[in-house]
Amino acid sequence: MASSEQRNMSCKRTNYIKWHDYFMANAILAAKRSKDPSSQVGACIVNEDKKIVGIGYNSMPHGCSDDEFPWAKNSEDVLENKYFYVCHAELNAVLNKNSADVKNCTIYVSLFPCNECAKVIIQAGIKEVIYLSDKHSHKPETIASKKLLDAAKVKYWQYKSNQSKIVIYFDENNWNIRIYRECDQVSLE
Ligand SMILES: [Zn+2]
Repeated sequence: MASSEQRNMSCKRTNYIKWHDYFMANAILAAKRSKDPSSQVGACIVNEDKKIVGIGYNSMPHGCSDDEFPWAKNSEDVLENKYFYVCHAELNAVLNKNSADVKNCTIYVSLFPCNECAKVIIQAGIKEVIYLSDKHSHKPETIASKKLLDAAKVKYWQYKSNQSKIVIYFDENNWNIRIYRECDQVSLE
């Protein structure tokens, strides 16, 4: 474990956060803004210059109160379930873009996009999907999504980080993170 005292201050740091971890961490952080009690998903769109151009998480549309619209999944009345109302993270990330378009961008997502989001990704010109979880791979939505992405030649692959977790410290005198690697060694960055 290298402390700041031990670090050679004349050489550049080598244990900086790598790009894939950085962008996926942004997607995960965004996910935790979601009010959805059962599923929080985040998306982070990155352009060819490695600049973040859009962030999103699953939410109710603007003006549609997340206190009034339902978050249920299994109500017998389909109008009382969330599915007709909620905007997925990928849609929000594309619509939140701060660039003219997201052509040739990469989207980092915590969960493999559904078929509806695959359509948005394709139509927006995004060329690559990097995902953390594919836990719904057996569902028709995911199978259809892969059919669409394959046909449109959008590359997708699962990211496996060397880091098992990153803890962020909100300390006014020493803002920091702690990275836990697979082997459970702790490294203070
Ligand atoms: Zn979706």
